[in-house]
Amino acid sequence: MQFGFQIGTRVLFGKGCLFANKDILNKSGRRALIVTGKGSAKVSGALDHVEEILRDCNIQFSIYDKVQNNPSLENVAEGGRAAKEFNADFIIGIGGGSPLDASKAIAVLAVNNIEPLELYKNVFENKPLPIVAIPTTSGTGSEVTPYSILTRDDMQTKMSFGNADTFPKVAFLDAAYTESMSSETTVNTAVDALSHAMEGYLSKRSTPISDLLAVEAIKIFGECTEALTSNNIDFDKREKLLYMSMLGGMVISHTGTTIMHGLGYSLTYFKDVPHGKANGFFMREYLKYNYDAVSEKVDKMLKLFKVSSVDEFGDIVDKMLKKDVSLSSDEVHLYASLAMKQRSTSYNAREVAESDLVDILSKTF
Ligand code: NAP
Ligand code: FE
Repeated sequence: MQFGFQIGTRVLFGKGCLFANKDILNKSGRRALIVTGKGSAKVSGALDHVEEILRDCNIQFSIYDKVQNNPSLENVAEGGRAAKEFNADFIIGIGGGSPLDASKAIAVLAVNNIEPLELYKNVFENKPLPIVAIPTTSGTGSEVTPYSILTRDDMQTKMSFGNADTFPKVAFLDAAYTESMSSETTVNTAVDALSHAMEGYLSKRSTPISDLLAVEAIKIFGECTEALTSNNIDFDKREKLLYMSMLGGMVISHTGTTIMHGLGYSLTYFKDVPHGKANGFFMREYLKYNYDAVSEKVDKMLKLFKVSSVDEFGDIVDKMLKKDVSLSSDEVHLYASLAMKQRSTSYNAREVAESDLVDILSKTF
């Protein structure tokens, strides 16, 4: 047995965890740049709570609320300038994966005079500012990963950077902040979390501990499928989904993702399909493709989902996600070749050839 295990993030989980632990926020710095999207921080209620605590603790703050979905390099460069101008000494990211990922890039750019493309060198002269992460979706697990996934127009795809210093220092996970998500975003993000657990579990880089976390996450998704398909999600389920998403993040912090993500990036980049949904489209064919290489693990997952075949599970996912895109043959070949360029493709259980990805794409669409 050989493995390493480290999560660089202190996790506080539960309803009211922010107020119950405001001393932690108080010790994080004196000048906070709050990084968020255009609406999520506000409608989730998290921003009001954070502002109240910051005022209470006499912490100065400024708000950068221009993070786009699937943030670009230009977007985080602007955020980095905002952090510099404000002279921030820590970052508070509030939102889904987009603002949390942007926070990591902004934390680096705030203290390093580099071009955004140099983020991908992954070595920085100055340590990034400390990050406090408050998720408002239950999907990416970005609050417990070092990854910042940014849109690369120069490569027509999305690519991640991150190192041990880009883990958020603290994450506050309160499912109350996820209650304002639409049912569509709830489902899409839950499927993203599942894809992390699945890809990590079936990855060549999986470890005994990442497997424990993945199995727990997959089990919880199984407990929530009924609620997700019938759009009947109470607070108890919201907590489960947030917990699952955190577990999925801890899994990929060790394993990385694989081909569902690699293929999904193109659907997001070219067709604007939300991230989790894009991964979910490939779930059925991904499991079939890998079945022979990791049949024991796939069978265990099917048992946790209480289904007897990959197709039965694929039908459940299809029910959750409306397939509202189609691909031309040229697009199929382009997406396969772009996914081959992602390093994470090599972590897949089976050795992947470009023709395999063409096959998965063709069968899916
Ligand atoms: P997102 O792009 O952060 O947000 C999607 C939409 O949901 C946005 O319009 C957002 O509003 C809204 N929203 C978020 N929380 C809400 C709430 N509580 N109530 C109402 N609306 C809410 O979606 P995401 O799926 O969480 O994140 C996707 C990004 O994360 C992608 O860029 C993906 O590549 C990345 N990702 C990162 C990791 C990692 O390890 N770091 C892993 C997987 C994926 P606003 O516009 O106001 O924000
Ligand atoms: Fe993801």
